[in-house]
Amino acid sequence: MPEVTSQAPAVDGWFATDDTGNPHLIGSKCPQCGTYVFPPRPNNCPNPGCESDTLEAVALSHRGKLWSYTENRYAPPPPYPSPDPFEPFAVAAVELADEGLIVLGKVVEGTLAADLRVGMEMELTTMPLFTDDDGIERIVYAWRVAPA
Ligand SMILES: [Zn+2]
Repeated sequence: MPEVTSQAPAVDGWFATDDTGNPHLIGSKCPQCGTYVFPPRPNNCPNPGCESDTLEAVALSHRGKLWSYTENRYAPPPPYPSPDPFEPFAVAAVELADEGLIVLGKVVEGTLAADLRVGMEMELTTMPLFTDDDGIERIVYAWRVAPA
């Protein structure tokens, strides 16, 4: 594995970090009807009853409630990067109540399905996904159980 020389998001524009160091997702909001969407996009309001063709980038809630979850026990096929040996990981669907969105994401290492319960408070964090051939550690957003 190449030496890590820097960090960068695996996908640009899906999350950012505020002044206190807390990451948040970046979504889009329709200025006409108030519908939110994630991942962010510049147009095409998802509300079938809305004619707006402009969406504005907005910060989404840092926390949400666990809506559903599962555990992935199989390595993804190439070209998707995967550690070797493969380690099972949990995937969480977290409901952001203010936005009316459910956001799917990996759960941090060390937390598996047996540790999760529907309705738990979850918060956004980030974690390395893989290091590319140029030594850039690629970062993704992830969910973790929020401290009480
Ligand atoms: Zn709209």
